[in-house]
Amino acid sequence: MRNFLTTLVAALLPATACAQAPADPPAQAAPGAPKLLVVISVDQFSANLWDEYRPHFTQGFARLAQGAVFHNGYQSHAATETCPGHSTILTGDHPARTGIIANVWTDQSAPRTDKNVYCAEDESVPGSNSTTYTVSPKHLLVPTLGELMKTRWPASRNVAVSGKDRAAVMMTGHTVDQRWYWTGQKYDTDLAVSAPRVVAKVNAAVAAALAQPREPLQPTPFCEAKAAVIPIEGGGKPVGAGQLGRAAGDAAGFRASPEFDGDTLALAAGLIDEMKLGRGAAPDVLAVSLSATDYVGHTYGTEGEEMCLQLLELDREIGDFLSLLDSRGIDYAVALTADHGGKDVPERERLAGVKGAVRADPGLRAGVIGPKLVTQLGLTGPGLFGDLSGDMYVDRSLSPANRGKLLAAAVAAYRAHPQVEAAFTAAELAVTPVPTGPPTDWSLKQRARASFYAPRSGDFVVLLKKDVTPIPDTTRYVATHGSPWDYDRRVPILFWRKGRAPLAGETVVETTDIMPTLAAWLGVPLVPGSVDGHCISSVAECPAASGSPERGKR
Ligand SMILES: [Zn+2]
Repeated sequence: MRNFLTTLVAALLPATACAQAPADPPAQAAPGAPKLLVVISVDQFSANLWDEYRPHFTQGFARLAQGAVFHNGYQSHAATETCPGHSTILTGDHPARTGIIANVWTDQSAPRTDKNVYCAEDESVPGSNSTTYTVSPKHLLVPTLGELMKTRWPASRNVAVSGKDRAAVMMTGHTVDQRWYWTGQKYDTDLAVSAPRVVAKVNAAVAAALAQPREPLQPTPFCEAKAAVIPIEGGGKPVGAGQLGRAAGDAAGFRASPEFDGDTLALAAGLIDEMKLGRGAAPDVLAVSLSATDYVGHTYGTEGEEMCLQLLELDREIGDFLSLLDSRGIDYAVALTADHGGKDVPERERLAGVKGAVRADPGLRAGVIGPKLVTQLGLTGPGLFGDLSGDMYVDRSLSPANRGKLLAAAVAAYRAHPQVEAAFTAAELAVTPVPTGPPTDWSLKQRARASFYAPRSGDFVVLLKKDVTPIPDTTRYVATHGSPWDYDRRVPILFWRKGRAPLAGETVVETTDIMPTLAAWLGVPLVPGSVDGHCISSVAECPAASGSPERGKR
């Protein structure tokens, strides 16, 4: 796997290929603008992990660390999940504005049995449901940078490659040239486009590799020192001393390993060559979302040997990818961040001295509290929909008066639970102004406000206390993210361009600042106030408060 990307791409690319980049109108990019913007999201790459591993990176991450480095970057909102997080990166907006409030929300009026709606599906397509869905960008309410680039320069290409469909969709949007994501069997697309030849080649290579077992990785002394077996409560297997080997055909083992990111990067590299990205007259954008770190975190936690092997291998893979870009002579720039942070398993955290680290009480589930309150109030039905934290929905089949009674009782019940930090009603959030100051100063209610979009949000939202992991049953995953606490909000934000002077410090920035900063790099004007984020003046020459009306709401 170490050299998977370079060997695969070397084998694929000499093949002639190459749809000629379309003829461009005269470019009007900013002076010195890069020809290719590569925007990388490392799924679940917390700033805590960045800080811990920074001294141990020697390859790709080490190179990017020579650019502008903000380790106090924030996915500022409360619902720190994959879909909302990816929706902020290239739109410049918080989820309150992108409309992507969660990976899955509830729509009780949905004309189908399944009332859950997946963030990147089109639920109006017959047969689509929240688990077997028709992939679509329809829920994303604002344009992405790639779409604005295409408006300004019709020949500009907007492309994504990802381990997850929702990441590729949220980083590209509605007007897209190519987007490819892993579906569990292969890299596929929801677009009606002809597939570049590299897609079939990568899919064949992945299928062949997956049919074989994979040897465990060899740990460095740093990773070896992290190896310690940690028993897990809630039925899950022990974690901590795994080396990411897998049996033939083990698709889950494939996904939770650097092999997966290597394949995604190989496909990205193949698309760069075949589409001649960065070699037309207009700038192109390629979004790459690398999902393996997230699966490793969920499966093994963040502080064991497994995550160590994953991150050091990813460092090498990103280094190989950047070297390949160098070898093509492309004038490119890189921005790298994460869709959310993450947290270790509470069992290992307690050993490390985090006394409050516990798993959530399964009695917090909507399916437990709802029926209890329904009985108390003399009502019928399930009462509540939702999980054990996050957005909660009151049964709409009840009369308005009974809904009001149940809402009041449910909010009181959750607030009284010792593991609950806060619960806010939709009415409370609707009258809370969208926060604008530094995200470090935001109250919990303000964080929840940035995740609130009335047509999709719950009737109330439940926020658990810090260090409470909302996974009581660990038979599938042992660790997660999704909370309003900084371990899930704080992520690295890096900008790199060849020859650019290094910049590092404690400045607080947001992932919503990435888009306006890149727009300034490229010369894409934005209407002042049209995005939540702000151009970072230490990174780009930010425009004065003026612009053309290119950005509209969708
Ligand atoms: Zn994620």
